[in-house]
Amino acid sequence: MAGFNVYEFYEYLNRSGAWARLDAGDPDIPPPQPVLEVLRREAGRLGYTGASGLPELRERIAELHGVDAREVIVVPGAKAAIAALVHSSSTLGLVAPYWPGYQVAARLFSKRVVVTNASMREEWRPSLEAVYSLARMAGMVVVNYPNNPTGAILEPRVFRELVEAVAVDAGAVLVSDEAYRDIVFDGSRVVAAEVQVENVVSVYSFSKTFSVPGLRVGYAVGDPGLLGRIRRFIEATYTCVPVPAQLAALKALELLDEATERARRVYGERVKALEGLVPREVFSFVRPRGAFYAFLRIETGADGVELAWRAARRGVGVFPGVAFGGEKYKDYVRVSLTSPVHVLAKAVRVLAEEACNAVSGGRGCW
Ligand code: PMP
Repeated sequence: MAGFNVYEFYEYLNRSGAWARLDAGDPDIPPPQPVLEVLRREAGRLGYTGASGLPELRERIAELHGVDAREVIVVPGAKAAIAALVHSSSTLGLVAPYWPGYQVAARLFSKRVVVTNASMREEWRPSLEAVYSLARMAGMVVVNYPNNPTGAILEPRVFRELVEAVAVDAGAVLVSDEAYRDIVFDGSRVVAAEVQVENVVSVYSFSKTFSVPGLRVGYAVGDPGLLGRIRRFIEATYTCVPVPAQLAALKALELLDEATERARRVYGERVKALEGLVPREVFSFVRPRGAFYAFLRIETGADGVELAWRAARRGVGVFPGVAFGGEKYKDYVRVSLTSPVHVLAKAVRVLAEEACNAVSGGRGCW
């Protein structure tokens, strides 16, 4: 993402008052009321607490995954767990396109990054051989399914093979970023730490399923040695996750099935709508099978960064493809399906017009 900072662009969109926010992955479904009620009720509990999380929350999470509570740590957002793990490794292996947060952490901690590219032709699924070689080179590999930015998922059988290829065959650490674990439209949840514990960490976020990204709660399950690295990082930085946020997360888990059903339905409907909205002579894309993003390839020859700026000037926020793995993705933009269909419809129209204007001197092409 050299040359393009999504965080700065995000601030620009905040300041400029964009009417369609298809840039950040900030869910627009309201959070569950009972979660908000717990937050209000427990707002005064602002003491310190242990760095691994409240025992009752850890136990509930352990039960969910059929593991021991020692194999669980509560974290201030999935990002913190990922940053901690990146910090603890010398080289990081990534499958591009990828969420920019991995590179941001790698750069901050001066880590070497090696990358393998998934291809649109293969529906953004990397080959097992490529991931295995990456693991041999890097020592730590981060994978993310359902994927941000492509919406790709792996079939459970393939996912299991991938976990084994990295954590057993290559003997490397596998960080499975499962921030969108619940949001799959035509498949099932996959949890790496349920396949294999040694060398594996599954990182989960409450942000997406429950629409509470500002709550800053997530958790990691897996290899206790790797969880220890996360715990030490939290001890050195955040100290603990605020108690009201942890109690809200405990309530959220009671509502996991309803929240999952709702997120799958709402984002699934938008994916379907998008297929009808996007003019294929302007953008091509692989239908997202999970998460809530579409990675659009610009077919007019316009550059993704230029398109993002042109759209921003007309009040539509999207992130350019280069943010998700560099120049290879200069012909792409990522659209976040976090607005209702009527807003998506207008925003996609603006995007298509600007993808044409950028190459036709404003005369359009579609
Ligand atoms: N991983 C991925 C793939 C994400 O898209 C995000 C948020 N955009 C995160 C991790 C961070 O989640 P959290 O809010 O729990 O830090």
